[in-house]
Amino acid sequence: MNPAAFGSDTRPRVPRILAIDDSELMHRLLRTRLQLEQVEIHCSISGEEGLRLAEELQPDVLLLDIDLDGMDGFEVLQRLKENPRTREIAVIFISASCETMDRVRCLDLGAIDFIPKPFEMAELKARVRSAIRVQQLLRMLSQRAQLDGLTALWNRSYFDQRLAAEFAEARRHGKNLSLVMCDIDHFKSVNDRFGHPFGDEVLALFSSILSGGRASDIPCRYGGEEFGVILPATSLPEAIEVAERFRRAFEEHQWRRHPDLVLTASFGVADISALGVGGKPTDLVSRADTALYASKRGGRNRVSSNSLPMAA
Ligand code: GH3
Ligand code: MG
Ligand code: MG
Repeated sequence: MNPAAFGSDTRPRVPRILAIDDSELMHRLLRTRLQLEQVEIHCSISGEEGLRLAEELQPDVLLLDIDLDGMDGFEVLQRLKENPRTREIAVIFISASCETMDRVRCLDLGAIDFIPKPFEMAELKARVRSAIRVQQLLRMLSQRAQLDGLTALWNRSYFDQRLAAEFAEARRHGKNLSLVMCDIDHFKSVNDRFGHPFGDEVLALFSSILSGGRASDIPCRYGGEEFGVILPATSLPEAIEVAERFRRAFEEHQWRRHPDLVLTASFGVADISALGVGGKPTDLVSRADTALYASKRGGRNRVSSNSLPMAA
């Protein structure tokens, strides 16, 4: 899994189209005719190159010819569906084949549409627009399913997937990765004293502090009043500084309706450099958790870290 596949950037981008077709003429036709459509168009002459480009460019829609030199369109589609990085791309077949069974096979393999050649450009454009609409809705739905409703941070299921992906990426490129786990102090008594709606407000405010860091930080609601912030390419000392900023901002927050109230949170920080070669993402969570509990035991409202090498 590649972190780029998660699209943590929720802004809509210009739809991207990749055409795999062995005719240069077709490439030229698509480029000129789709040029006013507010889309980005890329073309590839072969299945092999097309698969590589699909993984790299992450297009929204892929226009695929069946008759290609070398690997044919069916095989390209099969490979796209086998790869988690390209599985979700909407594939529209464009082919001169008038065989019903070819169309059935394309759709059964997971293509979303089939356009026979020769085609009217207006129809191709309309089908591409419709595929883009469906893709955008699917992306929105999957993002919604990964967002926490109260705080609008990423939820636990996203945290687990993203941590695994960032962990693999950091290992592959020999980069650092840190994790900050946080838990609001005596939160039960905040609910008991001021009511649940105020407790919810506190969770939302704490989340906005966690979201106020660098764009590359990945703040998530781990569960209840516990949060995890994944910090790619961040060393332990840097992550401790980040956590310290969060801690101070929360402690210093002025609660409008309760001016004398001071709320605090405890933090635990760990990075992957102390994990052995067999270390797993869950080990990073355990180590940050152990540090968090050291903060709780040490009197709360503090940042602790876990830099000891992992016991064999
Ligand atoms: P500690 O300092 O040891 O962390 O104490 P604590 O009271 O924060 O910890 P405890 O785990 O006993 O209580 C957590 C509380 O968080 C209990 C639960 O009702 C509350 N909580 C969890 N999710 C929500 C939520 O979505 N909204 C509100 N208002 N409260 C929540
Ligand atoms: Mg707590
Ligand atoms: Mg807790």
